[in-house]
Amino acid sequence: MATSSRIVVVGGGYAGLTAAARIAEGKTDATVTLIDRKSEFIERIRLHEIAAGSEPRDLGYKDFMECRGGNFHRGGVSGIDLARQLIELEGQDTIAWDTLVYALGSFTDVDSVPGVREHAVSLDDLGECRELFGRLFEAPKGTKLLIVGGGLTAIEAACEFAERFPQLEITLAVGNKFEAHRKPGGLSAGAIEHLRNTFDRLSVNVIVGDRVTSVEKNSAVIGDDNTLPFDLCIWAAGFSVPTLAKESGLAVNDSGQIRTNRSLASFSHANVLAVGDSAEVIAEIGGRCRMSCATGRPMGEMAAKTILGRLLAESSTPFEFGYSFRCISLGREDGLIQFVDEKDCPTDDVWTGKRGARWKEYICQRTLQGIGFDVDIGDPPDTPPARI
Ligand SMILES: Cc1cc2nc3c(=O)[nH]c(=O)nc-3n(C[C@H](O)[C@H](O)[C@H](O)COP(=O)(O)OP(=O)(O)OC[C@H]3O[C@@H](n4cnc5c(N)ncnc54)[C@H](O)[C@@H]3O)c2cc1C
Repeated sequence: MATSSRIVVVGGGYAGLTAAARIAEGKTDATVTLIDRKSEFIERIRLHEIAAGSEPRDLGYKDFMECRGGNFHRGGVSGIDLARQLIELEGQDTIAWDTLVYALGSFTDVDSVPGVREHAVSLDDLGECRELFGRLFEAPKGTKLLIVGGGLTAIEAACEFAERFPQLEITLAVGNKFEAHRKPGGLSAGAIEHLRNTFDRLSVNVIVGDRVTSVEKNSAVIGDDNTLPFDLCIWAAGFSVPTLAKESGLAVNDSGQIRTNRSLASFSHANVLAVGDSAEVIAEIGGRCRMSCATGRPMGEMAAKTILGRLLAESSTPFEFGYSFRCISLGREDGLIQFVDEKDCPTDDVWTGKRGARWKEYICQRTLQGIGFDVDIGDPPDTPPARI
């Protein structure tokens, strides 16, 4: 394959920014340009904390890229012309590429259930979360907050808000099941028990059994005909990916994620690599990667390795990734660390309470450091029972 000279990374999340940083640090002759609609990296895994009143760090893309010899272009990507190898930006601009890294991530799915887009809010971006903080902060005693979702985002949000805003009456609608299982992505019996105790401690009312089937103004329909009244509804029940990949003609799976090979190159277009939530990646060891920052960062490292390998005409190795734990914040004083095997199946090892909270905080910091930000993370606060 011909040496590529213009490398463009679209999307500066955990996956894309990691890729852009490592490629720029490779000090090849190639130019590396990161494109994002925002001017700074937002720690998406802390958005629920921002909605509870914390302030984000200042993590601007421009300086970050330029000090590595790369470039940053702020803009919204509106299309990808694969034939002419152009990124089309909102407005008239285009940016040419020889190798493209697609890392546009994901966002809350607000279209699969009727009424969500109109009547619920989500934890998707900084502006939305700051606005939500204003509403939660001002909310009078007894305000009914409904959080819909059974995944980690919904759990983290429910606990964060219950701790920070005790005047709220919080209901968490988790869907069909909330029980231990050993499959990938599952939680152990000890983890479920700790979560249930935490919900009790924080007075979060958990509804299990039926799914929310539609959302209306101030109420959600659950199951066939039950309604859950709310003053404010936060939707955290699953992510979607942008449709740009499919629209451009890249091979995608049913969810719209770009299908990739073991080097993270697109099945259909070898000069496009895909990483993070918007990529379908099957890793050696870990298997199918779930949408997460935990998988996105290593994918970014791998994409950079593939591209640098191509530039230097070195052979590439397949993407190897195995899971080790999942971190869930439960407010500022409590956390749950579920240790897992390499395929993301839970073991019996869990850390809870302050021990879990300290580890979660350490991992958030270590993630930033792993991308390349200058953060002093200190020594690990604990020794996990698994490889990390
Ligand atoms: C509240 C919350 C808590 C979470 N906690 C965890 C956790 O504890 N652990 C974990 O592993 N995961 C967690 N996640 C999930 C995790 O944040 C995502 O899986 C992860 O951010 C995906 O990384 P990414 O790089 O693929 O994409 P993203 O982080 O989504 O980044 C995509 C980037 O692309 C940019 N972009 C998108 N579209 C365009 C466009 N058209 N033009 C220009 N730029 C564009 C965006 O601005 C963004 O910077 C959490 C998510 C939320 C919402």
